[in-house]
Order: sequence, then C-alpha cells, then structure tokens
Amino acid sequence: MIRHPRNTNAPAGRQGASIERKGNPAYVASLSALYGSAKPARIPGNWRDRMPDPAAYYGQHVAKLGKPNGTGWAQGVCPFHDDHNKSLSVCITGERGGWRCFAGCGGGDLVGFHSRLRGLDFRAAVRDLLGGGA
Ligand SMILES: [Zn+2]
Repeated sequence: MIRHPRNTNAPAGRQGASIERKGNPAYVASLSALYGSAKPARIPGNWRDRMPDPAAYYGQHVAKLGKPNGTGWAQGVCPFHDDHNKSLSVCITGERGGWRCFAGCGGGDLVGFHSRLRGLDFRAAVRDLLGGGA
C-alpha cells in the first residue's frame, strides 16, 4: 500500500473546515425537527371548530349505526376489528366525537378515529378532515 504524503495531511486539514460546515446541516435538521419539513403543512388554529359534525361523520363511517341513547351515544359496527356485535359506541352529540370499542380496540376522539381508519398521523388526519376528506 502506497500512501501519498498529502493524503495524511488532507483529512486533518479538512476536518477543521468540515466541523464548521457540519454546524449548518445539524442546525437545519434541528429546525426541521421543530418546524417540520421544508413544506410545512400547517393546521389552522381553529381546526377544532371546523371538524365535521360527529353525527354526520360517524353516520357515514360506521356501519349499522343505531339511534343515540339519552346521553348521545350510539352503537355501531366497529371498523377496527371483525365485529358482529356492534361493539363500537360513538358520541354523536359531543363536539369531539368520542368513540370506544368494547371489544378492545380502544377509544378516542373523532380525529383519533379518522387517523386510525385511514392510517394517518394526527396532523394528516386533521388536514384530511379539514379538506372534507371522508
Ligand atoms: Zn373494535
């Protein structure tokens, strides 16, 4: 193996410069971690007010949805498991559209339901709902 004498110097010489340069990408990376990717897809501050009506939303997405009881909860077929018993309860009068599956799929609010149904993260689910995504 023959090493050119300059090669032994070059890395040392470059290292100084690359440390300086390294600062930038790291800084940019930390910024994008804070603020999201170069194309920030913002969620408007009033998104909660612009969510679909739970009654309309669940009426569309839950099979065999029944009439709500006195507290606004209705039973339907859970889309998250092979449900034959209408294990899903959804709150169609509450503004957050709560849901719960009594067969063990968990529960949450309307955004959580939509994100799970569509396989989206929270922000993507909100954007999808804001865009009228159904
Ligand atoms: Zn379920």
